[in-house]
Amino acid sequence: MTRTIRLILGDQLNPDHLWFETADDQVLYLMMETREEAQYTTHHILKMAGFFLAMRDFAHVIRAKGHQLVYIKLDDPENSQSMEANLLRIFSTEHFSLFEYQEPDEYRLDELINSIALKTSVKFRMVSSQHFLTERQELSTFFGSRKSWRMETFYRTIRQKSNLLMENDLPLGGQWNYDSENRESVPAQLELPESFDFSHDASEVVGMLDRMGVKTMGNLPGHISWLPINREESLKMLKHFCKQLLPFFGRYEDAMVARHATLFHSRLSFSLNTKMLRPLEVVQAAIAEFEARPAEISLPQIEGFVRQIIGWREYMRGVYWARMPEFSQLNFFNHQAPLPSWFWTGETKMKCMRTCIQQSLDTGYAHHIQRLMVTGNFALLFGAHPDEVDQWYLGIYVDAVEWVQITNTRGMSQYADGGFTASKPYVSSARYIHKMSDYCTGCHYNQALKTGARSCPFNSLYWDFHHRHQSLLQKNPRIGMTYRTWEKMKPDDKSSLLERANWIRSHSEEL
Ligand SMILES: Cc1cc2nc3c(=O)[nH]c(=O)nc-3n(C[C@H](O)[C@H](O)[C@H](O)COP(=O)(O)OP(=O)(O)OC[C@H]3O[C@@H](n4cnc5c(N)ncnc54)[C@H](O)[C@@H]3O)c2cc1C
Ligand code: SF4
Repeated sequence: MTRTIRLILGDQLNPDHLWFETADDQVLYLMMETREEAQYTTHHILKMAGFFLAMRDFAHVIRAKGHQLVYIKLDDPENSQSMEANLLRIFSTEHFSLFEYQEPDEYRLDELINSIALKTSVKFRMVSSQHFLTERQELSTFFGSRKSWRMETFYRTIRQKSNLLMENDLPLGGQWNYDSENRESVPAQLELPESFDFSHDASEVVGMLDRMGVKTMGNLPGHISWLPINREESLKMLKHFCKQLLPFFGRYEDAMVARHATLFHSRLSFSLNTKMLRPLEVVQAAIAEFEARPAEISLPQIEGFVRQIIGWREYMRGVYWARMPEFSQLNFFNHQAPLPSWFWTGETKMKCMRTCIQQSLDTGYAHHIQRLMVTGNFALLFGAHPDEVDQWYLGIYVDAVEWVQITNTRGMSQYADGGFTASKPYVSSARYIHKMSDYCTGCHYNQALKTGARSCPFNSLYWDFHHRHQSLLQKNPRIGMTYRTWEKMKPDDKSSLLERANWIRSHSEEL
């Protein structure tokens, strides 16, 4: 009889996977915490604790369903601390003829498992993770050799294929995309949602990480205050989103306010990325809510949400598998600067940066516009090396797994792929941050000033960035207006802007 061992990775926590339909005493499941995974970058303490708690909870659920499962904890004396060493040890001490694993989402793990297969006589078989709506290579097959790949085209095809928000083969409401209606800032008097949190005691895991000397970043006061760690809690979070937040999701999607970190965002990315939730069930639940409450939930709200999940999320995965491993080396602008050290402390006079960084250090969460138009915008204008930026984003956010982190960071945010992911660099002066947030009120810097000691650093860095990269960017039709404005500026004004930007780049620790 074939004895099978099946590996469950830390981001494969779907208890409804076909694997778990029936218990089989010839199948042994294996989960492991390793130093290799805990240290491939410096992770946020909450991210580490969240993953380990979710994995341990999952092991409990799978055992309760009658399956045999071996769980190797980080401090287990038998733990060889790498997947390869643990697997080869198990293969050599117990007899298995088949090793099965679900398709990993990370290139690094795909390569690792392929290399382990060459070192053993055990047969290896990869199965689907039954999570995504599209296959790994579907995006590259879809666009083929076309030079320009755009999310919108792919998104429309997925909508049609999955019959989501469609009416007689046409998009519901007659439009595919309502993004232009979803750019409102939050009025001062708007009632903001109450928090919906879980509380998990993380002291045992945190103590173990401490004893084992695992280097982490960020803060965790002993319990995890908001993160769902199993499918049941993730479903509660989804329900809360549909009931309370969806009616305002699209409208305030790009807004930021200092008094509320998460606004109407779902905070479902950790549940999705660990596969505790499936993307299709998430959008179906949201669409069912939209259909049940037409007077309260308008089409732009639901379309905006659906696009993030079946559009951007699937698209980024496709870009990842089409462009790795070379994607991780791209540096279109040849940026070389290290990030200022206050990225790890939040201690800066720039209120927008301080708010977003401190929030990230405290909670391991920031919403999309905070990541893209505040921290990412600064890193790009400043000229930070994409490797540095990647490591920061990969470490700090609880939802950070490489396939979706690197495509968003190196691609969308840092334009290091020269425009493959985004049609123009996502940069702005203080004007955008002032329009979409209340951060500028009470900031040490003045958003209206372009030069001088109190001028907002985003303003001069913005012009300096365009000036430095004129030869690379000026042919981009989406940036034409910016260059026309630059050309019309008086030479003295240009010099003052570049001088101020130069000072900022050479005194970044003082900002
Ligand atoms: C520089 C940068 C780095 C990022 N790193 C990550 C990351 O490591 N992991 C991650 O999951 N997302 C990442 N994103 C995308 C996005 O910011 C997060 O998915 C989102 O903020 C998570 O919060 P939420 O669940 O409340 O999202 P919501 O605003 O409620 O959106 C719903 C869901 O849509 C999906 N989604 C939204 N935008 C994107 C996007 N651009 N790409 C892929 N999926 C998207 C997510 O699954 C999210 O949970 C990054 C974005 C930027 C600009
Ligand atoms: S003035 Fe500039 S630094 Fe200050 S919050 Fe506004 S955009 Fe940020």
